[in-house]
Amino acid sequence: MAKNEAKKIVFSETVETTDPELENKALQNTLEKMEQENTLLNHTLNRLEEESSMLRELFNNTNTELNNLKKPALLVAEITNIVDQNKAIIKLPNGNKFYCYIAKEVKNLVSGDSVLVDQKSLNIVEKIALISNSEVEKYVIVEKPQEDWKEIGGLKKEIQEIKEVIELPLKNKALFERVGIQPPKGALLYGPPGTGKTLLAKAVAKSTDATFIQVVGSELVQKFIGEGAKLVKEIFELARKKAPSIVFIDELDSLAATRMDTGTSGEREVNRTFMQLLAEMDGFKHLDDVKIIGATNRLDILDPAIIRPGRLDRLIEVGLPDDEGRAEIFKVHNKKMNLKGVNTKEIIANTNGFSGAEIRAMCTEAGFFAIRENRDHVTQQDFLGAIEKVRFDEVDDEEKLFG
Ligand code: ATP
Repeated sequence: MAKNEAKKIVFSETVETTDPELENKALQNTLEKMEQENTLLNHTLNRLEEESSMLRELFNNTNTELNNLKKPALLVAEITNIVDQNKAIIKLPNGNKFYCYIAKEVKNLVSGDSVLVDQKSLNIVEKIALISNSEVEKYVIVEKPQEDWKEIGGLKKEIQEIKEVIELPLKNKALFERVGIQPPKGALLYGPPGTGKTLLAKAVAKSTDATFIQVVGSELVQKFIGEGAKLVKEIFELARKKAPSIVFIDELDSLAATRMDTGTSGEREVNRTFMQLLAEMDGFKHLDDVKIIGATNRLDILDPAIIRPGRLDRLIEVGLPDDEGRAEIFKVHNKKMNLKGVNTKEIIANTNGFSGAEIRAMCTEAGFFAIRENRDHVTQQDFLGAIEKVRFDEVDDEEKLFG
């Protein structure tokens, strides 16, 4: 259409007309049309330019991505020494050290920096934000516990003992220095499952405002095959960094059981991890702000090395609660429950042999009985039903385990 218009102009210019006014008007018209068309063409041109720059950008991005995908991965390493501007010694995660070159564009490196290195040449090509040297925080639970002494039912004697062994040295170091004795490095809590060992350890961490580092012995040896000893080392490094801290090793027996022989590679691995644990315990001073609490259900199979003086030499038995203990635990767990017509004595008499965890489970079950019947309060009958259920579940679990 634009071409046609242009032709018309040429044509109209060559046409001879007798009326100059008419010709002027015709030319004016054509001019206006051409101007409109010009604006339209300008718009189209702009749009096409934008589109073209977008496509160019898309092409560039895809090209870069494609090139990146083709590139071999880079290794993450740590600088151990800067030799000079162009050379450094790096350590790879497997522990091997290399002398290598620093690319020109990488500046301001210092020992301890994390860097990316080329897989083949091992030259440093980029500095990256510091990666925590210890990966340990991913594998253990590190927290500031909220459990209070008030949340523990019974266990008066045990609380007293753990306060003496852990709380006093952490809170009043000077006292031990004045008297000139060395406080224990830690304690071993032993007793049946669910009796409140973890709870005691957490409560003492809370009362001393210590960082609580929880490790499960069986996980150390099963999940992290070949890494156990290294992890133990890193756990204690972390504990020192976050001091005052308490390292709580649950299921200590899976790590520190007496072994008949160390023939298989699995046993050797456990042994290495255990040796590292002993080395760590011996490595720090009594008055360091790091305490260790071990917990086990199997004191009988524990390697005596772990409870030798200077290690976990304070043994605290956490047994099944007696009538009074169960009543107190019951009180802790029913504190927020809406009870109606509940006879505590009967409940306590019926829960002989229950651990703290089972009493808690009984309270939860009783609550469920009430919910199922659309009530907002819990009755004696709910508790009696819950006791049966918890006892039955326990027998069921045992049958599943032992046939
Ligand atoms: P395990 O040997 O199986 O690790 P444990 O002895 O460490 O068990 P905990 O984990 O401390 O037992 O207890 C489990 C739960 O049972 C606690 O979170 C708590 O709710 C309840 N419980 C156990 N003992 C007591 C207690 N004395 N007072 C109040 N609650 C308790």
